[in-house]
Amino acid sequence: MTPDDIKAAELSQHLKAALGELSARIVTRINPRARRISLRLDPADGCIVLVRPRGVSAKAATRFAVEKRYWIEDRLAALPPRIVFRDGVSLPYLGVDHVIRHAPEARRGVWRENGTIFVSGNAEHLARRVTDWLKTEAKTLISPRARDMAEALGCKVTRISVRDTRSRWGSCSADGKLSFSWRLIFAPEPVLTYVAAHEVAHLRYLDHSRAFWRTVSEALHAYGTKSGIETTTPELAREWLHGSGAALHAYG
Ligand SMILES: [Zn+2]
Repeated sequence: MTPDDIKAAELSQHLKAALGELSARIVTRINPRARRISLRLDPADGCIVLVRPRGVSAKAATRFAVEKRYWIEDRLAALPPRIVFRDGVSLPYLGVDHVIRHAPEARRGVWRENGTIFVSGNAEHLARRVTDWLKTEAKTLISPRARDMAEALGCKVTRISVRDTRSRWGSCSADGKLSFSWRLIFAPEPVLTYVAAHEVAHLRYLDHSRAFWRTVSEALHAYGTKSGIETTTPELAREWLHGSGAALHAYG
């Protein structure tokens, strides 16, 4: 344990004593460059982040959090409720509602059929299995799209990965690695395709210039023509993500 870890443990004890249950929703961080204590909401993780400079004592940080108690409660209360994967819960698969059904006797893993996602095995593993399955589905859907579009543009993808990225739906590195949020599996298919096109277009332009946006449209057009699968415009997809994207973080 580093001195910072010990300080963090001490602070979490103080917070627990002062705020009870509420303290479980507060994550503390030390930032040596911070000038004072601050609080911010992390909507993706559904928690409050308390950032403090190194010299601030656990007591002072706790006093600060107690003073801001109502602010903390209000922010957390305004978050969409978290949706835990269990039997009977509904989730959007490519934007279409599907109900999770536990099928303990079946030995088929996880499978999708007529608006239902069936999960075999023990109930205690259901949430994890659904999550793993959704991540695999996301990758299975995104990868061929990204590869097809990169090929259409004459660009090279070196790797495609799917992760739990919080702040971005996708990213592209200068050496051709694309990464996507697995939560795109909840979005309507044209939105998922758009995000793939967006990152693929970054293989050509690492900026958001007009030439870049033209490339996004070009990639979408090429994909739509080749696959016959409906695509949307970057504008509509971005509008959708802006309005509905945050809600995708409530699942799982
Ligand atoms: Zn971009």
